Amino acid sequence: MKIYSDIEWEEKLNELFDYLINGKLPDDVQCPSPKISREQAGNILWFLQEVTGIIPDNYEVCAICGDVHSDIRYFDINGKHYCYGCQEYAPVGICEECNCVEIYKHKSYSKKDELYLCKDCRRARRAKK
Ligand SMILES: [Zn+2]
Ligand SMILES: [Zn+2]
Repeated sequence: MKIYSDIEWEEKLNELFDYLINGKLPDDVQCPSPKISREQAGNILWFLQEVTGIIPDNYEVCAICGDVHSDIRYFDINGKHYCYGCQEYAPVGICEECNCVEIYKHKSYSKKDELYLCKDCRRARRAKK
C-alpha cells in the first residue's frame, strides 16, 4: 500500500468522490460507478474513517463546495464543516473581536463597527463609550 502525504490523501479522496458521484475514472480504468449523492459519499468516507480506520480521520467534506479537505473547520453552532476557501460564504463564523466565539453572521453584524461581533464583545464595546 502507498503512503500518502496530507495533500495526496486530499487528492485521492476527491478522486474517490468524483468516481462515486460522477463516475469519473482515469483513462485506463473501467468500473461502473454507483453514482450516489455527495451526502452518501460522505457517509462512506465517514464509515471508512470511523468504523474501519483505514482512512485518516482529519478529512471532512465542506458544506459549501462539497470537496474533501484536511484544512477545514468544524462549527459547533450549526454542526457543519467549512473549508478555508468557503468560510467567507458560510452562514456562521467567528467573532472578529475575541476570535473565539462562534456566531451566526446574519445575527451578529454590527454596522457601526463593521465587524461580526458576539454578544459579549458587542456589549463590551457599547459599555466603553
Ligand atoms: Zn469549501
Ligand atoms: Zn467576541
